[in-house]
Amino acid sequence: MKIDYIPAAPAASWRKRRVVLVGTLCAAIGVGSFQLLTRSNDAIAGNPSNQLASDTGASGLYLSADMARPNTLASSDFDNIIQTAVTDALRVPEASQWSTISVKPGQNLSVIFEALGLAHDEVADLLALGGEVQRLKKLKAGDELHVLVEDDRLDGLKYALDERRSLEVRRGDKGLESVTITAEIEHRQATASGKITDSLFVDGRRANLSSRLIMSFADIFGYDVDFAQDLHPGDQFSVVYEQLYKNGKRLRDGDILAAQFTSQGQRYQAVRFTAPDGNTAYYTPNGQSLRKAFIRTPVDFARISSPFNLRRLHPILHTIRAHKGVDYGAGTGTPIKATGDGKISFYGNKNGYGRVAMINHGAGVETLYGHMSRFRAGLSVGSRVRQGQVIGYVGMSGLATAPHLHYEFRINGIHKNPVTVPLPRANPVAPNHMAAFRAQSSPLMAALDQQSTKLASAAKTKTSR
Ligand SMILES: [Zn+2]
Repeated sequence: MKIDYIPAAPAASWRKRRVVLVGTLCAAIGVGSFQLLTRSNDAIAGNPSNQLASDTGASGLYLSADMARPNTLASSDFDNIIQTAVTDALRVPEASQWSTISVKPGQNLSVIFEALGLAHDEVADLLALGGEVQRLKKLKAGDELHVLVEDDRLDGLKYALDERRSLEVRRGDKGLESVTITAEIEHRQATASGKITDSLFVDGRRANLSSRLIMSFADIFGYDVDFAQDLHPGDQFSVVYEQLYKNGKRLRDGDILAAQFTSQGQRYQAVRFTAPDGNTAYYTPNGQSLRKAFIRTPVDFARISSPFNLRRLHPILHTIRAHKGVDYGAGTGTPIKATGDGKISFYGNKNGYGRVAMINHGAGVETLYGHMSRFRAGLSVGSRVRQGQVIGYVGMSGLATAPHLHYEFRINGIHKNPVTVPLPRANPVAPNHMAAFRAQSSPLMAALDQQSTKLASAAKTKTSR
């Protein structure tokens, strides 16, 4: 015997799902949660849905049993056949008939709806709702749509507009309707701490910190601690941070609110502060900036190919000439970063320096970047640049034997060694924001203290064993 089942609709709803036996048997058998309906003397061959449409609708899952002489079967045999057929052929229905569609490159709403077996006018009906629904015109690869299809019609759709807002479409009495739901994002405070045994990354992960939080921890103290070079076993870190929750479910980690790093008896502390003017930065508990006004090196992954030297034999000119800067050897095209905030004071060619950028940082400080292969598009004299912003690319324009950056640091016109010059801190908390700073920072510092005390006493218990 042969038993086929034919899903009538791609996503028939569970409550409407039923199994229909084609035949003249008279039995109603419940199998699991399925209701098997058969009717006596219903001549329904060739049109399985006609009489059975009844109150709950005809759309469903049809089990057509092409049985030889069904009336000769004992009812127990019939039970067995049905049991086997149902077990073999039918999947357990899902709790929900919503299907999740992950948008693939090049797919748009029409393509997706067509694949779902929806009629063309469904797209038009949906988009006619206007408002945020229009966003569905601009689906991107990787977007997720949750779709409910009933009776070949769109019955519901959910789409996350952003982290907080989601679009929900449903079919009401008057057709499709849409709402935008905004979730409350709850900020909860969390703490973590640990000891360095391997690396900041490994031990941070061990303390359940996300990679992103570990990176920002390293950034916060990056002006004072080189986490690649200066770590010692037993160094300790503590972090107070935010966890974001949406509808009671953890969404992701937020920002570090306060952090501490202790190394060889030296303690570094940071607290996050958003000033009334909206600027956010990390400060020491006294309101000093953790950021310095300058980064030490304008190129990443570069080696010093020629140091600052006031009596040097020039490699091309072969005369004793002061080398009033540092050369960083790096491949042509390596990005060059402004070492501090300022304004471009020169951008062009300067004899032996080749293509040069100079930045005026105020307070008499000026930096110079020479031998560039090209300038950063969009910058010119007077352009405001931020610390770390790319201003050009390494090259060997002017007098150079190999691609490198010639970097100078001048204070009131006097050349300083960029490698050793003391770098000033960035601006502290403004005096008129100090009261707000204290109010924000003291509970955070208390939470941090509590966390590091816990860590210290845990360490004591361990060593006393
Ligand atoms: Zn040089």
